[in-house]
Amino acid sequence: MADPAAPSSAPIPLAVVVTTPAYSGLGPALTYAGDRPLVPGTLVRVPLGQRELPGLVWESPGLSLDGLEPGQVRPVLQVLDAIPPLNASWRALTGFAARYYQRSLGEVALAALPPQLRELSAEQLARKLKRLDKLEKIASGAGTASAGDSSASKPDDGHAAPEPSDEQAAALQRLAQADRPVLLFGTTGSGKTEVYLRTAQDLLEQDPQAQVLVMVPEINLTPQLEARFTERFARWGVVSLHSGLTPAQRLDHWLLAHLGRARIVLGTRMAIFASLPGLRLIVVDEEHDPSYKSQEGARYSARDLAIYRAQLESRGQAGHCRVLLGSATPSLESWRAADLGRYLKLEMPQRIGGGALPRLRLVDMNHQPRQCVIAPPLLQAIAERAARGEQSMILLNRRGYAPVLACHACGWKSDCPHCSAHAVFHKIDRTLRCHHCGHSSRVPYACPDCGNLDIAPVGRGTEQLEEQLAGLLADARRADGGPIRVLRLDADSTRAKGSLEQQLGQMHEGEFDLLVGTQMIAKGHDFRRITLVAAVNPDGGLFASDYRAPERLFALLLQAAGRAGRDAGFVAAQGTAVELWVQTWYPEHPLFAALAQHDYPAFAAQQLQEREDALMPPYSFQALVRAEARTQEAAQALLNLAAQAGAELPGREHLTLYPAVPMAIQRVANVERAQMLIESDSRPALQAFLSAWQEQLHLARSQPEAKGVLRWAIDVDPLAI
Ligand code: ADP
Ligand code: ZN
Ligand code: ZN
Repeated sequence: MADPAAPSSAPIPLAVVVTTPAYSGLGPALTYAGDRPLVPGTLVRVPLGQRELPGLVWESPGLSLDGLEPGQVRPVLQVLDAIPPLNASWRALTGFAARYYQRSLGEVALAALPPQLRELSAEQLARKLKRLDKLEKIASGAGTASAGDSSASKPDDGHAAPEPSDEQAAALQRLAQADRPVLLFGTTGSGKTEVYLRTAQDLLEQDPQAQVLVMVPEINLTPQLEARFTERFARWGVVSLHSGLTPAQRLDHWLLAHLGRARIVLGTRMAIFASLPGLRLIVVDEEHDPSYKSQEGARYSARDLAIYRAQLESRGQAGHCRVLLGSATPSLESWRAADLGRYLKLEMPQRIGGGALPRLRLVDMNHQPRQCVIAPPLLQAIAERAARGEQSMILLNRRGYAPVLACHACGWKSDCPHCSAHAVFHKIDRTLRCHHCGHSSRVPYACPDCGNLDIAPVGRGTEQLEEQLAGLLADARRADGGPIRVLRLDADSTRAKGSLEQQLGQMHEGEFDLLVGTQMIAKGHDFRRITLVAAVNPDGGLFASDYRAPERLFALLLQAAGRAGRDAGFVAAQGTAVELWVQTWYPEHPLFAALAQHDYPAFAAQQLQEREDALMPPYSFQALVRAEARTQEAAQALLNLAAQAGAELPGREHLTLYPAVPMAIQRVANVERAQMLIESDSRPALQAFLSAWQEQLHLARSQPEAKGVLRWAIDVDPLAI
């Protein structure tokens, strides 16, 4: 509450950013009265209507209370100045993210703070900070995480870093001199993580204030990676930031980073908004991973923001901030940026220990027994490996690709007659619709090319695979003569806390012969005894309506392949062949030719050519507007009306607005969903249009045709269409 005994001097006008929806009619910041000046970035609590909300003081040149009645401007209720204000680069970052992704500043800036921090009063915060001090003292005494210990300059002998390989050494040297973002293009198992660790270590040793942010796609899936960082850098304070933390942990970790006491933050995409006053390096591991793009609220790309943030931080006094993107299969966006010289590309083509990459074995499903989900030769190969004490891994592609219809007899596919895109099968009204241009047609009764009646969505028929596997391998024996042990890992089987770590641990120790799972098993794990990886239903990714699907599939298959043969010594001792098996109905597909050669550059070149010909990203810029309503008509009407109303807006002449179409999954929980694609060859034009267009969308909502519209959202640089 405001102190009634506050000094009676004239109130100071303060611009305060609070959480308001993207289009609320309220400006980016509201005006409040303070009894003293507060620097931008200070956390405060303010009244809004009947509520009390957290807010951030923001810069607002020329703000004054002149002309306002004293009662019109309400006072700031509390000032949480026990922690330093959020600094200028942090404010610039959240401000940019809000503008670029078409959200309100308050929504982005406040959501970037840990939820508990938003709830705390000044007294609670002070208590929290005291507790944190105490915790830290205990932690540093016991030699585990968190505290900044002054003997930080000698290497941690318990976990000494291995001597860099020649490739690593060369990459490190060029990295140290890089004047632009670095794309580390390194084969799976080439030792990229070691390059991150070394680079971080050098910076932390050189500068006692320096902080490092390391982003990974999904931290829970890679406990091994977290352990590597914690072991190596415990003395510098390592904290993690991700959604698996309790609210209290998240606040503690955030505060340690904000106070500069944790010098390494390891986190998922949300960590891009961590407050890091000494930030000198941002690492984005597996930079191509789609999980860096947020799918709710502000749909930001943490990878893209990493590039922007590094630029911002480099402008500060403290010095240069590096940014390092790493992948064995970079995103086409990053690949092109490197081609254009905007990023520095560093290559590490060799695996540590000189191990070979798996050899591709394509299984042509046209020549396998009907209805078989795992081809007999593949089953046999798995059984043979288990008998020799080697492990295998089966990857299930369960990603929700929009279904495309295909004829297995002749290869016909439901192409859009107007676009280089496949039309999507909409079960609800049995239509085929192009999500690019909106063209719609009835599902044909039989294959238009050969008359075959059996046309079906690509990639069906593997749902029960997991259950069937045990039966299929019932006769096989492991090295000790016992039955084969299968470990299934997916979101369901690993929900219990710690169960993933435990099961992965058992896999590493060789208790299982076969690991089955979705993409989560393909990411990052450093398995030592796997010699065979199989993808049994990848075809959905070959012909999905989404033009990014082949890129994703290629990345997934190469990543999965990268789990095999990681221990060259083991492979040599076993005298075994390291293999990637792929079951497909389309063995002639060019993607597999590039995969066989492990030739990402060739694949990328071919994909980029296609994108350029079709003027798709990265050769154009897109936004997707999605509307939800009680009826499909209303959802589409909102978008179409707003599009008409936007005819004169800035940037419009450089844009194509396609008609609204139903989304691939058209109805969810009785809510109808529609989307509209907007394309441009100019990013600034797209940006200018979108920010002006928000108002038209808002106005269109009150038109009778748009009755029943529930919400809408803009997705800039969408990953899936
Ligand atoms: P990537 O991240 O490129 O897939 P990792 O960094 O996980 O590769 O390295 C693969 C394996 O090689 C790991 O077990 C790692 O400990 C080991 N390794 C990495 N660099 C070296 C090195 N210079 N000397 C010895 N082993 C190394
Ligand atoms: Zn056919
Ligand atoms: Zn089309």
